[in-house]
Amino acid sequence: MIYVTDLTEYFFCPYKLYLKKIKGLPLPQTPEMVVGSVIHKIYEEVLSRERIIIEQRITEEMGIDEIFRILYADSKRVIKNVMIKNKEKLKNLNVDYLELIKELQEELKEEELLNSIRIKKYMGQWGKDEKLYSSLFFMKDMEYPISSNELGLSGKIDKLEKDSEGNVFPVELKTGLFSKGIRKHEKLQVAAYALLLEKEKGIEVPVGFLEYYQVKQRLPLLIKNEDKLEVLEILSKVKSMFEKQEEPSKEKKSHCQKCGYYDYCWQT
Ligand code: SF4
Repeated sequence: MIYVTDLTEYFFCPYKLYLKKIKGLPLPQTPEMVVGSVIHKIYEEVLSRERIIIEQRITEEMGIDEIFRILYADSKRVIKNVMIKNKEKLKNLNVDYLELIKELQEELKEEELLNSIRIKKYMGQWGKDEKLYSSLFFMKDMEYPISSNELGLSGKIDKLEKDSEGNVFPVELKTGLFSKGIRKHEKLQVAAYALLLEKEKGIEVPVGFLEYYQVKQRLPLLIKNEDKLEVLEILSKVKSMFEKQEEPSKEKKSHCQKCGYYDYCWQT
């Protein structure tokens, strides 16, 4: 089975996918990669716990401060747990561990304060009814696993959102700032998930999202037929590379500087 991330890796650089999957060369982790994956994990866990915390621990009588205290305490607990698990890895890469905790706490503090205000406002109008969560937040599944035997493709969608009419939207969570426009491999990734969802659910999935959660920015992506065709085209190239164990040529491009294999490719 081929993974959606194999397609994006191939799109980034076929040689990189070859080194990783055919040669089995471990990808050296840069501090940016490790910090990015730690932040990703924290947000993913906070979002996946959100519904249960709101439904089980928030009551109609609570004020904004108390709601905030509960939500924020839970976010801080998630930050602490994930950071403890990754402490050694971060320290070995000289990442300022305490500073990172402080930054994440500040980001989530703002997020939870906004959530508390929205929850209180809703309860003030409608009470704490069963629609509270779905009215304020999309219903969602985090880390939704998906695969298609027909395509020979599988993956895990960061966040799968559903609206009340049965539409589904794949959402990719991103760290950092949205500053350089939507990058082609990001669009390809969302289109691949849309294609898999169409196969699984038998419905059209014409829209997905990129969510830059640290800056609370969310970008819709229209998924056109040509995007899905491109996914299929790359999928067939990856299949062929894996089957034939072919070594693709490597090209030195600007993105090589940020690649964990830089030394292997260009310093030896
Ligand atoms: S350093 Fe450049 S050529 Fe080598 S794997 Fe990375 S992106 Fe590809």
